[in-house]
Amino acid sequence: MLGPDQKLPLPWLAQPLSQALATARSHALVVQGPAGVGQFDLALLLAQAYLCEAPLQDPERPRWACGNCASCHLFQSHTHPDFLLLLPDALREPLGWAQESETPAKESKSKPSREIKIEAVRGMLGFAQATSARGRAKVVVVYPAEALNTVAANALLKTLEEPAGLLRFVLASSEPAALLPTIRSRCQPLPLGLPAHAPSLQWLKEQGVEGAEVLLAAAGGRPQEARDWFEAGLRAAAWQQLPQRLARGEAAALSDWSQPRAIDALQRLCHDLLRVAHGAAPSFFPAASLPAPKLAAPLQAWEAALRRAARHAEHPLNAGLLMESLFAQGQQALREASNRQSQEVQRRNG
Ligand SMILES: [Zn+2]
Repeated sequence: MLGPDQKLPLPWLAQPLSQALATARSHALVVQGPAGVGQFDLALLLAQAYLCEAPLQDPERPRWACGNCASCHLFQSHTHPDFLLLLPDALREPLGWAQESETPAKESKSKPSREIKIEAVRGMLGFAQATSARGRAKVVVVYPAEALNTVAANALLKTLEEPAGLLRFVLASSEPAALLPTIRSRCQPLPLGLPAHAPSLQWLKEQGVEGAEVLLAAAGGRPQEARDWFEAGLRAAAWQQLPQRLARGEAAALSDWSQPRAIDALQRLCHDLLRVAHGAAPSFFPAASLPAPKLAAPLQAWEAALRRAARHAEHPLNAGLLMESLFAQGQQALREASNRQSQEVQRRNG
């Protein structure tokens, strides 16, 4: 959101924000595109702009929230009576929207939900029917929209179909195809793609991310993801060493990472090795850090094994063994892909 200094939290959102404020016609928008580039931030900036009582007239920042009016202050302190955020419980704390009254929930044994539940949507219906407290607008932000379960999505649909006067919705989703078609068809799409390289790199450096260039490439150009990886302990040096450690069979290279992240890293590595085998430039690893496999077929078998593992990554049966096995398969695939001739000699002699 915009503070009194009117500085955008993510500089690359300036153009998408101005464009959205200029072109949005529908009372419901869905910000869509890759995760990790600021969807949630853009949704909040739009909400704040709709609620602001003195929007900027500046041609550089048309209709942006002022950051200084009473409404903006309420928005910044998360207490605006005309703003409602539908967020899975699991994201409240990471995104800085934990509610004071909810802190004791941490002590409960159940894991916070990754879904937006029907109870939350029912609560929203009351909000939707009430009169706007400050008379400017009422805004509901839903993030990520694909976290709505089917029952919750159907309940939301009714309000999207019959918009009440001042009510606006901003949904954000990195998997718009997973939304109910009836929800999609009632929202104006607002695409948010990958930001340009230079501002992403600049922002990462301002966030104190070391090895920003390497980590930004590792994250596929998604700056927020690169920042999150850095904060979770991933270092550029460890990333660059991964290909050689795979070649040497050092499975300990992944021991500090969660299983989903480790599988994801191997998938990116496999993807790059395949690109190199096909004579293309790698996407996620510096070219100099990669071996030069000549054959794709052994790597394709590894790729399939990784894909199967990724589907079950949230429910590991025997995480340690699985990772060792995937790593060993990768080492073997790389060896075969790099050194076909000696393999054939071995096979002929054996
Ligand atoms: Zn304002």
